[in-house]
Amino acid sequence: MTRKKGMISLIVPAYNEEENLPVLVHRVRAVMKPYGNFEILIVDDGSSDQTRYVLRQLSQEYEEVRFISFSRNFGHQMALRAGYDHARGDAVICLDADLQHPPELIPTLIDKWREGYDVVYTVRQEDPRLAWHKRLTSKYFYRLLRRVSNLHLEDGAADFRLLDRKVVDTLKQFKENDLFLRGAISWVGFRQCRILYEPAARYAGHSKYSLSKMLKLAAMGITSFSTRPLYLSVLLGFIMSLFATLFGLEVVYEKYFTDATVSGWTSLVLLSVLIGGVQFIMIGIIGVYLGKTFVEVKQRPAYIIGDTDEIEETVTTWENPANEFYSPLT
Ligand code: UDP
Ligand code: MG
Repeated sequence: MTRKKGMISLIVPAYNEEENLPVLVHRVRAVMKPYGNFEILIVDDGSSDQTRYVLRQLSQEYEEVRFISFSRNFGHQMALRAGYDHARGDAVICLDADLQHPPELIPTLIDKWREGYDVVYTVRQEDPRLAWHKRLTSKYFYRLLRRVSNLHLEDGAADFRLLDRKVVDTLKQFKENDLFLRGAISWVGFRQCRILYEPAARYAGHSKYSLSKMLKLAAMGITSFSTRPLYLSVLLGFIMSLFATLFGLEVVYEKYFTDATVSGWTSLVLLSVLIGGVQFIMIGIIGVYLGKTFVEVKQRPAYIIGDTDEIEETVTTWENPANEFYSPLT
């Protein structure tokens, strides 16, 4: 079933990756040569090193290289979004600038697309070279996410993936600022296919994903695809009420049917402290969602482009995903 063909876009988020980009462009060009029609769109996420100048040079040197440069650091997810918004290809592949996502795997992704899949996502095999906190946070993050949301993201699901044009156009319709792409892509459905890969070591420089950036991503993933934490507060409320009722019954019984002296001070203090705590938890959870509502109603642009090589408006047609065969992830 060779039904898909056309231009391939490669989008690369880059934050302070001046040393990696020339190598990346070289390797991607080598891999993409047989495909002819392709573009490499690099999104500079407000780098403070020479990335922007490297990009301008690369785009002058190779006609298939385009770039977008953010006015400041908006984060990896926003860089990917900008890439999806401005890619022109019929299939869009994103990969990291640090060469951890081996460009040599691209032909496999394209083959799967040509077989008819709309989403070809990759799952990285456990890498013992990875820092322990990365492995641990990644593992527990996916486990927690599966438990609290309806998403079936696998351990190690990466942002290295191919999307068909119609999936990209669907993503562009998501208006929320805080878009958790991995979740959104799993959520939109279409025909999805998974590929295992072995991550390479970072070519140059150090990881730009600090622990705090990862925690932020995890919190965003959980709160943007699940309202279950809200139900947790309701459940806690119920448990507390049950506890209070039983306690109340006991107090009434003691008062009317026994001669026990009033020893209420300890229990009173305990109870009020406990209820206070639970209330704080509930208010906190409501606050998180209220905060999200507050951010979303403002409808700010998700990112701002400071510099680019001439981006032309592209006209894309919208195909209704409901007409497509949907195979849910298992
Ligand atoms: N990145 C980005 N903005 C950021 C952090 C990272 O665009 O704020 C890019 C980075 O340049 C790289 C990719 O996202 O191409 C993955 O980041 P990194 O390799 O630092 O993360 P790790 O692989 O260590 O998780
Ligand atoms: Mg990396």
